[in-house]
Amino acid sequence: MHILAPSAPPRLAAKDEGQTVMDQATLDELRSQLEGERAQHIELLDEYGADPYSDEVKNLDIGNDGFADSAQATEERSELLGQIDAARHRVQQIDTALAQMDEGSYGICEDCGDQIQAARLEVRPLSVKCVDCAAKAG
Ligand SMILES: [Zn+2]
Repeated sequence: MHILAPSAPPRLAAKDEGQTVMDQATLDELRSQLEGERAQHIELLDEYGADPYSDEVKNLDIGNDGFADSAQATEERSELLGQIDAARHRVQQIDTALAQMDEGSYGICEDCGDQIQAARLEVRPLSVKCVDCAAKAG
């Protein structure tokens, strides 16, 4: 449960391109969405004894039994490692976004420092670049 101090006004006013700054209700919604997503990833990582903040995986025992050498086991293992990697990466991205929400710097383009369009953040809450910079970056 996060209670935001009323003394923290939401950033700069939108410049000229309309609905740029996200309203508080939308921000709260995104936050709970991200927290929910984070919990799912943590659950997956927990299941395999994987630490979200290191490369360590403790319980990855797929293929460590009698079928260790089968191509399928190898494939499953690498698929799982890929999932764990993705979950770990995602948790870290979400952590960053949540921390930015706390300090009021969420949604600022890391390239140009402008406010990322609210509509973009609603679709992709982990965007770190505005549409223009993302397009430039390819
Ligand atoms: Zn930008």
